[in-house]
This record gives sequence, structure tokens and C-alpha cells, in this order.
Amino acid sequence: MPHIQLLVVQPTPFCNIDCRYCYLPERSNKAVISEETIANLFSQVFASGWLRGGLSIVWHAGEPMVLPVDFYRRAFRLIDSLRPPDVSLTHAFQTNGTLIDDAWCAFFAEEGVNVGVSVDGPKRLHDINRRTRAGRGTFDKTIAGIRRLRARAVPFHVISVLSAESLAAPREMFDFYVSEGIDRVCFNVEESEGDHVSRSFAQGDIEDAYYQFLREFWRLAAAAPGKFSFIREIDDATRLVLRPKEGVFFNQLVEPFAITSMDWAGNIATFSPELLGLKNAAYDNFVLGNINRDRLTDLGQRPALIRMREDISAGVELCRQRCEYFSVCGGGEPVNKLSENGTFVSTETTYCRMTKMRATDLVLDLIDLVGKRVGELSEAEIRSLGVAPLAGASAEAALPVV
Ligand code: SF4
Repeated sequence: MPHIQLLVVQPTPFCNIDCRYCYLPERSNKAVISEETIANLFSQVFASGWLRGGLSIVWHAGEPMVLPVDFYRRAFRLIDSLRPPDVSLTHAFQTNGTLIDDAWCAFFAEEGVNVGVSVDGPKRLHDINRRTRAGRGTFDKTIAGIRRLRARAVPFHVISVLSAESLAAPREMFDFYVSEGIDRVCFNVEESEGDHVSRSFAQGDIEDAYYQFLREFWRLAAAAPGKFSFIREIDDATRLVLRPKEGVFFNQLVEPFAITSMDWAGNIATFSPELLGLKNAAYDNFVLGNINRDRLTDLGQRPALIRMREDISAGVELCRQRCEYFSVCGGGEPVNKLSENGTFVSTETTYCRMTKMRATDLVLDLIDLVGKRVGELSEAEIRSLGVAPLAGASAEAALPVV
């Protein structure tokens, strides 16, 4: 039986800005999800038997904050009225931050919403790609939103898409976060998805640039204890390398319905959320059905789902046989395999070489550098590897990270 862990809901496909690397094909469409569609989704999800205690909901895939706060107040009340008592919900917004005002801050705080703001670094770097339709940079509005969140003590993290320019500027990125009091950061890379072809991936040395960026960022963070509470790429790679042998890696992206996505019109998809909205005749454009017409629990039998599941599983099996990073990856991201290799039935992508292989290499290289075995180090010790000498290891052993 499927287990839904994450529900990605598109309240509107519209976005108020027009980033150069955006893959969302409908971002000028101002359609809005109806309350009936929200009710149909949640009543079916809650009745499906596919939940185990908790459910995370992300409002995303357009700019969610172009809709008014009252829209979400009504939606949250509606969802809560349908929620069985034994199911707990966590709401998250992924936003470009340009529309954050005091009313939004109050709403986020009242509802305990996890807020992720997309900011690509200081103005010079952010405005390269994150622009309005008229081509103007959006940094000033985004940073005003971030400062407002901080002033109202609303917890948030940032996601920064690394461009060729920012990969070459780890110190500038680090200084930016520290100067703005941003202590939880996630790095994404500009991917090739759908019709979007990554400019970064075209660079010959992109994998090495990513490795060097992460290494330098790690070194700087380790030299400034307390400035960062979470650096996703380093923390995740560390946790995966350190987990007990018997700890099975669960890859949500290759399990049917573990991540379930719905667009504003009620169309349902699964696996990588980015698939919803992309075109592909072989898989019925990745749409399994519509929540306003179909039963959620019937969608697992749809021919498109069966074809996707078979092909994605075959790709995972190839990864299991061929890739020495399988234990920390679980077979990768289907959308990247399809976009880069033309088929789910494949293994390596530029995306996985950067985000899985090079990030894992970095953790292993630093452990190696201090002359320890993986099992001899705690997570906290590994986090401090950037510069801090470990007990029993010489300062020189730790410093070559520079
Ligand atoms: S790192 Fe790449 S090749 Fe290896 S398991 Fe993951 S997706 Fe497959």
C-alpha cells in the first residue's frame, strides 16, 4: 500500500516574477485552485488509508503568496475540518519572498508554517537570474521580505540556486548569509528540466566547481561556530555517510505516491514533483487522473503509473548494480534522468554527480584527511571538520581543507 509522506499542492501556477532558469511552463497563468478541489483532495487523502500519522503539505509550483492571506486561512480551516484526529499536518510555503508583509508574518507564526525563501545570494548574484518579466532584479524586494521575517521572529530557511557565478564566490555567499542573519541554508543547482537546459551544466568543470564551493563554504562555516544551524547539503551528506549499516535509505522520489502532487485544476502526479506540468506522450504527460473526477486510490492502476513505475524501478535497479553511491542515493531523481538522459531507465546524470557523488566525496575526503574511519566520528565532529582539529588529529591534518 502506498504511503503518502509529502503532498505538493499548487494553489496557482502564476508567479509574479520570471526567473531565467524557471522550468514551470504555466507561470503566466493566473488560474486559482477552487475550495472544492482542495476539499476533494484532502477528503480523499484522509480516507485513502495511505497516511501513517503525519503529512507534510507544501504550497508551491507557482508563487503561493500571490493569493491573499485570507485564501489560506479559509483553506487551512477547511483542511482541518476534514482532518482525522490521528493525523498531524505540517504546512510549508516555498516563496520568492517578494510579497512578505506583516500580515503574512502573522499568519506564518500563528499557523506554524515552515517558510522557505528563494534567494540566490547578494544582489550581484541574485539578480543575474531572479528577475521580473521586465527584466529587473528582484533582490531588493526579496531581502526586504527576509528582513521582515527576521524582525517578526518567524523561522525560515533559504534555498539558493547556485549559478556558475556563485559557485565561484563561496566567500561572498557566506558573508551575505552571515550579514543578513540567515542561518539555515539549502543549495540547489540549476538543473535541466523540461524545456529548460541548464547553463551551469554546460560548463565543463561544473562538478569540480560544486565540490570546491561546498568545501570552502564548509571551511568558512566551521571557522564561525554558531553562525549556521543547518547547511542542508553538508548535513544530509554527513548523516547519510554516518548512518548505521542497517539503516535503509528510503528514496521518496521513486516510490509511487510517497510524494503526491496536485496542480490547481486537480490533476494528480507522483514521483518527482517537477514532472507535473511537463509534457510526455509515453506517460500521459505524467497526469494519473483528476481529484475532482477520479478516486485517488484507483490511480495506482492507471497505465501511465504502471509504465512509470516499471521504468523508474528499472532505472533504480541499474543504479543499484552500477553505482557505488547507491547506498546514499537510492537511485536518484527520475525527472533528472528523463531530462538529461531521455529515459527513466538510466543511471548517472550531471545532477546526481554533483549533488550526490561530489557531496559524499567531500564528507569522505575530509574524514580521510584527519586519518579517521567513518565509524570513529560523530556527526558533530564531522561538521567541525572544516578547520577545527579533532582530538587526536593534528591541526595540520585538518587545515589542508583550505
Ligand atoms: S548517484 Fe546517480 S547513478 Fe548513483 S545511485 Fe544515485 S542516481 Fe544512480
